[in-house]
Order: sequence, then structure tokens, then C-alpha cells
Amino acid sequence: IIPELTACTISPLFLMAVMFAFDWRMALFALLPVVVSFVVLGYLMKKGEDATRRYQDNLSEIGAVAQETIAAFPLVKTHGANSIVLDRATAAFKRFRDETADWIRKALVPSVWFQVLTTSAPAIVLPAGVYFYLDQTLSLSTALLFFILSMSIGNVFSALGSLSHRLSNQKDILDRIFAVLNEPSLPVPDTPRSPSGHDVRFEGVSFAYDDALVLETVDLSIAEGECIALVGPSGSGKSTMLRLLSRFWDVTSGSIKIGGVDIRDLSPDALNNLISAVFQDVFLFSQSIADNIRLGRPDAGDAAVIAAAKAAQADDFICALPDGYDTVLAEGGKSLSGGQQQRISIARAILHDAPILLLDEATAYADPQNELKVQKAISELAKSKTVIVIAHRLNTVTDVDRIVVFDQGRIVDQGRHGALLARCALYQKLWTDHVGSSAFRFGTSANDALTAPRLGET
Ligand code: ADP
Repeated sequence: IIPELTACTISPLFLMAVMFAFDWRMALFALLPVVVSFVVLGYLMKKGEDATRRYQDNLSEIGAVAQETIAAFPLVKTHGANSIVLDRATAAFKRFRDETADWIRKALVPSVWFQVLTTSAPAIVLPAGVYFYLDQTLSLSTALLFFILSMSIGNVFSALGSLSHRLSNQKDILDRIFAVLNEPSLPVPDTPRSPSGHDVRFEGVSFAYDDALVLETVDLSIAEGECIALVGPSGSGKSTMLRLLSRFWDVTSGSIKIGGVDIRDLSPDALNNLISAVFQDVFLFSQSIADNIRLGRPDAGDAAVIAAAKAAQADDFICALPDGYDTVLAEGGKSLSGGQQQRISIARAILHDAPILLLDEATAYADPQNELKVQKAISELAKSKTVIVIAHRLNTVTDVDRIVVFDQGRIVDQGRHGALLARCALYQKLWTDHVGSSAFRFGTSANDALTAPRLGET
């Protein structure tokens, strides 16, 4: 916009200088409609600012809704066209139509008036020129010069007007960009410290995403090499514990220590090297499988990538693909099954080989055929590491060193499976619910469902 802005300001200035040099009275008459139109435009644009902001808001919303609607189409197909998804999309598009109409009325129509006004200069210059000529205070040639110039005033100034209209749109976009850029970044220590050991300690940790606390003074120590499971009802704060340990956010109060050092005193790279995570949502880039695995350790050679894939039980299916490890994945890894995506993410974590391993619902999407393989891969990954796992399917964690029971952001009990089953009411309920839901499989008895491989039983 800067070169355009320069061109748009130099031409009018030059034009004005020429006009004032020839005859200041005629210059004033020629510029009168321009001045009026700028004042009117400024006033109307101020009034239209709100409409412009709403229009931009809606533009973002409509993009998100369109994407969501397309993603939810299988749901629409199976639940009929009147499903909530289409109603939502229809309402959003109607709102968009109305807000756009409002924006056109308040912001675009004024700019049309501006164009009309700026091009109306000849209608004033012509009678003024005739008057001064008859009055013998203006030569015919100067009067003609002004008449010709007045016809180009519209073009010269309307370019400036449409630029200011674009600038106001861009300002709104810039405001959004700066709202992101101005978010404070996570503080990084000036003199990073090094941990001694790989035990993890949550000390009086409280955390709130917004106002309400989702973790309240949580104290939890995990010894180096220990494997613990976090269980509890949905929303009790288990995932938040892992996110805080990975420093997606900083704690509101209290501290989290690894090897005796507050994670805020570790450099981001050091923390990254300490933690491997296999989260519920696997993210795969649309690049080759080898490169996706290599994200765990960017300098890893092909042999190391293949060894990690083998340990993650992923080598078989990768080799069966037409281009093997060079197969380029569809966006988000959609060309693979959920279980296959998970095994690639496990291979990534194996390659990363960090001493602390976080597993969040790692087997949630595994289909039964793959489940055994995913569990085997996880057991491989978990060997001699400090492991924190979130599991809803309690039968997979009955053999871990310790089970920690969460409820509403607090630890209500912890211990081994048998002891918790005997004394903790919430754990009993979670277990009963789990046994009930496991039994609800076609053609499967509760006992069959509970014979799935277990973490800690390698
Ligand atoms: P769990 O893993 O036990 O299901 P979470 O740690 O995901 O629980 O969530 C704990 C609480 O924090 C819930 O009430 C949830 O709604 C809230 N929460 C989770 N993530 C966010 C977020 N990004 N922003 C605001 N609230 C969140």
C-alpha cells in the first residue's frame, strides 16, 4: 500500500499546487466538492467502522462454519438433513447475509457517494470560470485549463478515497493480527538450570484457564522410572496435568519440578528433550511417513527411523504401502486408520527417546485388531521411563505402580488397583462403570473385555 499511497498523495498535491499557482479563487472552487466529500466520507466511515468490524467477524465465522459443516457431513448424512449441523450453518449464513447488507449500506454506499461528489467538480468550475471570465478577472485559456483539470480531479482524489477505504479494512485485519502477536510469550529463563534426575513433582499446583480453578493445590510426586496412571471422571483435570508438565501453560500457583528443577527454569529445548508425549489427537503432516516419524529427532538417519517404526509395530503396514516409508500422507494423515496413525506417533516418541513419557488416551482410537499392537508398542516405549498415563479403560492400567484418582481438580486417593478398589468409592464407581461399558460389546462378555493387554505388564 505504501507505493500506492505515495502515488495517491503526490498527484493531488501537484494538481493543487498547479491550480493555486494559476488562480487561487478557481482552485478553491475546484477543490470545494473534494473537501466536502472527504468530510462526509470521514464522518460516514466512522459510523461504518462498527459494521466493518462485524463484517470481518462474520467473515471469519463463516469460514469456520463452512469448514465444520463439511467435516460434519457424515453426521448429517446419518442423522438426516435437519440435523443441528445444517441448522447452525443456515443460521450463520443468514447472519452473514444480513451483516454484509448492513456493511454495504454503512461502509460501501458512502464510498460511492464520495466518488460521485469528487467527480462533480466540473459542475462548479464551469459556472465559476464563466463568471470570472465575464468579470474580466480570468483569461479564457486559464478558464479552459481549470475546466480540463477539474475533470481529472475526481480520478486523482477518488484513488485516495478508495485507498482510505481499503486502509480502514486493513486496519481491522491488522488489529486481529496484533491481538495474536501481542499475546505475552511464555517466559524463558535467562540462566537455565539442569535437572538432576527425572523424577516429577507437582507442588501445590493450582491452575485456571480462565477464572475458575480446574486444578486446586495438587501435590503429586512421581519417582524416576515409576509408571503412574491418572484416572477420574471427564473434566477432572487429568489432561491439564499433562499440559502443564509440557508447559503448554504455566501454573497459576505452585510449581512443577523435574529432577528438582522448576520447569520454568529449564530452557524450552531441555524440557522438550525430557518429555515425549503421545496425545489423543495424533497430528501427522502431509509429508512422507519417514519425515513424520523423524519429527521425534530431526537428525535421525533412515536406520533409526525404521528401528523406531519396528518397535512401534508400524513397520509391517508401512512396508505394505506402495511407496513404503516414502509414502506421502494425505492432509492430517487421513489416509491411515486411527490405530496406524497412533503407531506412527508412538514411533515418533520412541525416536525422541525422552526419559519422561506422557500418554493421553493413547489407545482411544485403536481398532481391536490394532489394539494389541498399539499396547505392545507402548510397552516398548515405556521401558525404564517415568511414565504418566491417562486412561479411561481402567483394565489397561491395573498393573501400573500407582493409580491416582482425580475429581474436580483434586487428588482424592492414590494407590494400587486392589487397594483402591477396596477403599475408594469414586474408583469403585469408575471401575464398575468401566466393567459395565466393556461388557456392552456385541458378542463379548465382561471377562473377555477385561483381558486386554495391560500397561506395566511387559
Ligand atoms: P480431563 O482430562 O480430566 O477430562 P481436562 O484437564 O481436559 O479434564 O479439563 C479440566 C477442565 O478444564 C474442564 O472443566 C475443561 O472444560 C476445562 N478446560 C480444558 N481445556 C480448556 C481450555 N483450553 N480452555 C478452557 N477450559 C478448558
